[in-house]
Amino acid sequence: MIAWNSTPVPELDGTQSGIKLFDTALQEPAPLEAHSERSLYVCGITPYDATHLGHASTYVAFDLLNRTWRDAGSAVSYVQNVTDVDDPLLERATATGVRWQDLAAEQIALFREDMEALNVLPPDHYIGAVEAVDWIVPAVEDLLGRGLAYVVPGEGEEPDGDVYFSLDAAAALHEDDPARWFLGQVSHLDVDVMLELSAERGGDPARPHKRNPLDPLLWRAARVGEPSWSGASLGDGRPGWHIECAVIAQRFLPSPFTVQGGGSDLVFPHHEMSASHAWAAGGTPLAQHYAHAGMVGYDGEKMSKSRGNLVLVSALRASGVDPAAIRLAILAHHYRSDWSWTDGVLAQAVDRLGAWRRAAEHATADDVVRVRERIRACLAEDLDAPSALAAVDAWASGVQDRDGDSTARQGMVDVLDALLGVRL
Ligand code: ZN
Repeated sequence: MIAWNSTPVPELDGTQSGIKLFDTALQEPAPLEAHSERSLYVCGITPYDATHLGHASTYVAFDLLNRTWRDAGSAVSYVQNVTDVDDPLLERATATGVRWQDLAAEQIALFREDMEALNVLPPDHYIGAVEAVDWIVPAVEDLLGRGLAYVVPGEGEEPDGDVYFSLDAAAALHEDDPARWFLGQVSHLDVDVMLELSAERGGDPARPHKRNPLDPLLWRAARVGEPSWSGASLGDGRPGWHIECAVIAQRFLPSPFTVQGGGSDLVFPHHEMSASHAWAAGGTPLAQHYAHAGMVGYDGEKMSKSRGNLVLVSALRASGVDPAAIRLAILAHHYRSDWSWTDGVLAQAVDRLGAWRRAAEHATADDVVRVRERIRACLAEDLDAPSALAAVDAWASGVQDRDGDSTARQGMVDVLDALLGVRL
């Protein structure tokens, strides 16, 4: 699937030396020294709700990581999926009377436009679940063949043929290996909490005949009225969500890759389960590090379609809001914090963008060096964008009476674009 376009990242003098990034699995900041190659997988959207501020905030967070690595001289391999067939998409299509393929295509197109407008660098590989079916089927067959997956008999409305992953079998693999996967490795949650989250977030802990109630679905046998694909020995059906990401990541990135990213609602079950699949498939961890972005609400409430309070990037753009101001509004909050979108947040970002644009006219060569190094230092500390913005504010508030020059102005524009993705 094609991703979106981006303008080249300006080259800056000097480099970022290395960064600390909070690792959910380690439960503390992980030092990431400068390295020639970095790899990143960020879970993509299920295309039934156009990009809301929560999505935008997650992709901007990992865009900062991507830019920071590039600034440190790393070649970055970046992969993102798009879950273009899944229950919520099919339910929305049915409820609104459109073909699920049309709904997905329309929402993916909107997402691309939003990402481009927000100056988020595109992934090198942007892969749909539908495209990945032919890679997922042999992976599931292999797990079945090795006793790491099993078929659950049908009951009631459920047909025969659904394939589940055995968490207990995976946890028993290579038990002497210190890097082995175990349930809770990524999320560190108690089983009671896992059971609750599983039920809330697409799992089916109450499904009869599962070996462990938390075992996730690998292959859903075809149902009447649902799309399905040939699954060879699995029979017709469609893939589960966690195996989709594990297979796509392992196909296009090293094992393990550097950082698995996503919103904090993906810690469990999604990232825990993808890690279990990767371990079972190849005996390697999925990723070296797991990083998660906070949730964005609206005026103190959870943002959701059912509450009717989704703030869409496309709607803001259509109303004339400068995408650079949307990006600044996001960056004003630390990526790991939960925060609320309000009219005030946007107004402050618009003011800040205006102040930076005016200040750039007065920039000097010394300013460019100072601001650049200050931003680098802030981003090195777990991508501390709010402090980076404060550093730029401090510079911008003191330059009005000075003469600038056009070379320095361009230098400042390049620094803010390359490091923060903010286009003046
Ligand atoms: Zn994923």
